[in-house]
Amino acid sequence: MQTIGLIGGMSWESTVSYYQLLNREIKHRLGGLHSAKIILVSVDFAEIEQLQHQGNWQQAGQILSKAARSLEAAGADFFLICTNTMHKVAEQVSACVSIPLLHIADATAKILIQHEIKTVGLIGTRFTMQEDFYKKRLTEGFEIAVLVPTDEEQKLLHNIIYQELCLGRINESSRHIYLQIMQGLTARGAQGIILGCTEIGLLVQQNDTSYPLFDTAAIHATHAVTVALT
Ligand code: GLU
Repeated sequence: MQTIGLIGGMSWESTVSYYQLLNREIKHRLGGLHSAKIILVSVDFAEIEQLQHQGNWQQAGQILSKAARSLEAAGADFFLICTNTMHKVAEQVSACVSIPLLHIADATAKILIQHEIKTVGLIGTRFTMQEDFYKKRLTEGFEIAVLVPTDEEQKLLHNIIYQELCLGRINESSRHIYLQIMQGLTARGAQGIILGCTEIGLLVQQNDTSYPLFDTAAIHATHAVTVALT
């Protein structure tokens, strides 16, 4: 089994999910007392969040690059950035190490293709929904059309992520808002919805909807286990 490196803490609420998902998947596949070989570098999300909202991605990327170098030095065979948003600096981070980065959008796209999804709804932070670093990867890399919510809806989703989910607050009223917005995307033609923020799975689950949900944290972690075992 290979050793999985994680850059976590963005937020730590979803890093907990990754830790559980990785270990449960290893246990599921290998049985008994097996557990995942993991090295975690967890950053201070307050610093990252400030840099994001100041538009200082270069410096945020430097913090993650340092984390990636620590993972490599500690013996990780490959690594994950446990957030969709911070894949905005994926190239900067992966360029500073020789171990591979498993990109969250690539792992997700492969699952979408398996489910024959050609048009998908994407929800996440404003950065992920508005900018090209994520959507372009799906459209140009995998020919998957991506629908995003309206500006007003994006604002609501974004604020709930930073003001509630990343603080571990799960509110019924916010679940309702998410479900309504996702429903709107399916009405516009989305065949499924990417939960494109690693905390959203804490708020909405597959049982809440009749259309397929693609939880990026779960997909990313499952993919990491497959890689670790091959
Ligand atoms: N974990 C979230 C994501 O997947 C948001 C936190 C962040 O800005 O990194 O995008």
